[in-house]
Amino acid sequence: MDFQQIQLDQRLHEAINRAGFETPTPIQEKALPVALGGSDIIGIAQTGTGKTAVFVLATLQKLLQGPRNHVRALIVTPTRELAQQIHSDIKMLSHGTKLHAAAIYGGVNATQQIKTLQRGVEILIACPGRLLDLINQGYISLHEVEILVLDEADRMLDMGFMPDIKRIIKHMPQKHQTMLFSATFPKEIEKMAAQTLQSPKRIDVGFSNPTKTVEHALYPVPAHLKTEMLLEILKNTETDSVLVFSRTKRRTYRLEKKIRAAGYKVTSLHGDRSQNQRDAAMQGFRSGIYQVMIATDVAARGLDIDSISHVINYDIPDTADAYVHRIGRTGRAEREGQAFTLVTPDDDKMVRDIEKRVGYKIPTVRLENFNYKAEAPQPINYTNNISSPKNRQRRSNKARGW
Ligand code: AMP
Repeated sequence: MDFQQIQLDQRLHEAINRAGFETPTPIQEKALPVALGGSDIIGIAQTGTGKTAVFVLATLQKLLQGPRNHVRALIVTPTRELAQQIHSDIKMLSHGTKLHAAAIYGGVNATQQIKTLQRGVEILIACPGRLLDLINQGYISLHEVEILVLDEADRMLDMGFMPDIKRIIKHMPQKHQTMLFSATFPKEIEKMAAQTLQSPKRIDVGFSNPTKTVEHALYPVPAHLKTEMLLEILKNTETDSVLVFSRTKRRTYRLEKKIRAAGYKVTSLHGDRSQNQRDAAMQGFRSGIYQVMIATDVAARGLDIDSISHVINYDIPDTADAYVHRIGRTGRAEREGQAFTLVTPDDDKMVRDIEKRVGYKIPTVRLENFNYKAEAPQPINYTNNISSPKNRQRRSNKARGW
């Protein structure tokens, strides 16, 4: 199938060409005609499958007809990064249509967002909290919304946004088209979908696309040698950008320091970083200033960076679903990507869960020149250590006569 077989306005076909999309991805092939027909849809697809273009193109096609300057489509997403990415996809695909979109999210001053809203937009991409704030302050009305998109619904559930979503829906007219996208389909989402969608058509591309483009591997390692193993992998692997997942903010912070000490350009994304720091990290990673980014699951939700060649799970995720999300950050669309997971004997059960989910046994890799029997690196003990930083400082202060 090619895009020409999908009934879209000529301007959208041109934008698709300009974006360099040659053939529709499986979710686009299945879901786009259904979405264009106006049905509610449930798309089971993760980031990397091309799902954004499904709801963006269906939305743009519908909005080309009809009034301008008020909000007619609302796209709700869990994170600001995802909101920004969708916004830029909309800009790319709406080229030449004169439709306007605005991204609304917290963590930054609302003034600029309000100004943009006041100029009149047809498409709103929003995170739930800031959206509700601006609705309550009277800056946004959803009374004429015709299309609602709930993107990464399972992530929104994880992040506790379901009550907000229900509140948002109450501000909308009864009649509208809903497109719900989720990488996984837990019971709570199923229940919410049953309550809010009208005879939805379910389109499931599940895991088929990522497994084609992502090569998985397990690296068994004693827990105390994980950092050495990660450094060994980095040293011996040809990579573009590498996204490393660690379990906690604290571990992320410590790992970042060790990777930096080994000479890599590294940044991190975790809950303790300010919005400015997050933006700088994202921008630096996206542009290639940083080759490695260490992140926690929460911080990395919905990231879409084309150049990620490797996802490395320094810590195995807590669930098979989280694994699906993490590896969805590489092998974008039809590109090749690799997903490496460091595993300790404690991770056996989770490995089995993940393999069940992926549908095959993930190969195990042993590194030839790695000393698996090495002792744990000794923590540096500065007491009585003549060259401790404190002593060095004291000596240099003395030398300076301070
Ligand atoms: P998504 O799953 O929506 O996050 O999309 C993942 C990436 O695939 C984005 O960078 C898109 O620009 C890209 N993409 C979407 N559709 C296509 C297509 N038909 N051909 C090539 N790349 C695509």
